[in-house]
Amino acid sequence: MNPMNPLKAVRGTRDLMPPETALWNRIEAVARSVFGRYNFGEIRTPIFEDTALFARGVGEETDIVSKEMYTWEDRARAQSEKTQSLTLRPENTAGVVRAYIEHKLGETGQLQKLFYIGPQFRRERPQKGRYRQFSQIGAEVIGPAHAGAESALRDAEVLEMLATLLDELGIEGWTLKLNSVGSAADRPVYLAKLKAALGPVVGGMCADCQRRAETNPLRVLDCKVPEDQPIIDGLPRIGDSLDAASREHFAAVRAALDAAGVGYTLDHRLVRGLDYYTRTTFEFTHGGLGAQNALLGGGRYDGLSEAIGGPKAPGIGFAMGEDRLVLTLAAQLEAQQAARAELADVYVAPVGERQNAAALALARELRRAGLRVELGDGAFRVKKSFEAADKAARAIVLLGEDEAASGMLTVKDFATAVQTKVPRAELANSLLAARAETK
Ligand code: AMP
Repeated sequence: MNPMNPLKAVRGTRDLMPPETALWNRIEAVARSVFGRYNFGEIRTPIFEDTALFARGVGEETDIVSKEMYTWEDRARAQSEKTQSLTLRPENTAGVVRAYIEHKLGETGQLQKLFYIGPQFRRERPQKGRYRQFSQIGAEVIGPAHAGAESALRDAEVLEMLATLLDELGIEGWTLKLNSVGSAADRPVYLAKLKAALGPVVGGMCADCQRRAETNPLRVLDCKVPEDQPIIDGLPRIGDSLDAASREHFAAVRAALDAAGVGYTLDHRLVRGLDYYTRTTFEFTHGGLGAQNALLGGGRYDGLSEAIGGPKAPGIGFAMGEDRLVLTLAAQLEAQQAARAELADVYVAPVGERQNAAALALARELRRAGLRVELGDGAFRVKKSFEAADKAARAIVLLGEDEAASGMLTVKDFATAVQTKVPRAELANSLLAARAETK
């Protein structure tokens, strides 16, 4: 090996280092706390599985299975062993459902509510927010139909839980996009209409769409190529091919979300990349992420268990990209810090107009000491002074009659919410020290 050429982490993988790892741990702690309150338990499945699990579970024609899996032939170590095709898991739902079947969890007659946190592997083209090893936090609700696993209430509960989780993580400005892709019975009806509509127009579409039209026509709806958009807008909508039961199911999901006050937008093109979805599909997106704007995705998968050889076990679940949560939160934190750097060191608030002149003198003192000072007005009520100060400065100092007489000033630091009394002679130094600490 050339000693001048040290080895590096493989393309699409990265080391997570302090202090960022603290953010990863905080995200996982908040997720565990929320999952606990919704009565989910943790499952940890193996990182590699039989390749057939993903071929059957996720779908041979999906991008994930056809292009992105890390698959190898595992050599037999003994005569009794067979060579086996193994794959690093590209997602965790198939593994959870395999475990559900293997451990006969259906026989408990109960709904199973399971969450997982762990690495997944896809050979994608790496870019910001897209890696070849990435971590997902996900959950599944699965069980026999008689335990209510098909109920629209479960879909709404999972979506409401996700809204709570993102709020508790402090993610600001997320959007929930919602659609229904119908049942297994609806699918061929729609696919027939879609193929018929694609027939005459597909020749004018991008190469990917021409391929998808043959192998997996639903994925044409995912196309982002600008020139293809007017054609796609003219294609039949999946919502118009749902049977009465699927329409009712979707209406019930929406009614429950409305009642819980969880906002969403309908997106009739949201079909998602995995074959197993039925009825409800959803994505939570965030504007700050750029091209890879999906924080998480999921949906209902009523036929998945049967597709991998298990009993009927309808379910619904989601997977969120932990890497993308970290990116979003880190960007938010940076923006907050940048906004704080623009703030004045202190807002001098006279209490009552009679203190205005004294307040100007105090502001002059502080400014001469090198502080950036915003001067309020004693005509404002104290509440209004606090509101104005909170927007303009890192701290507020109140100058009322008592303070003027005693020389002890009340200072509140907005970042820590701590309120203290400071002798006037020490005020400038104490504010300078506070400023140095935040830098
Ligand atoms: P999927 O399993 O494709 O539905 O993805 C669910 C979520 O996992 C996405 O919304 C992303 O947040 C995240 N995700 C998927 N693929 C990647 C990747 N290659 N790198 C980082 N995050 C990913």
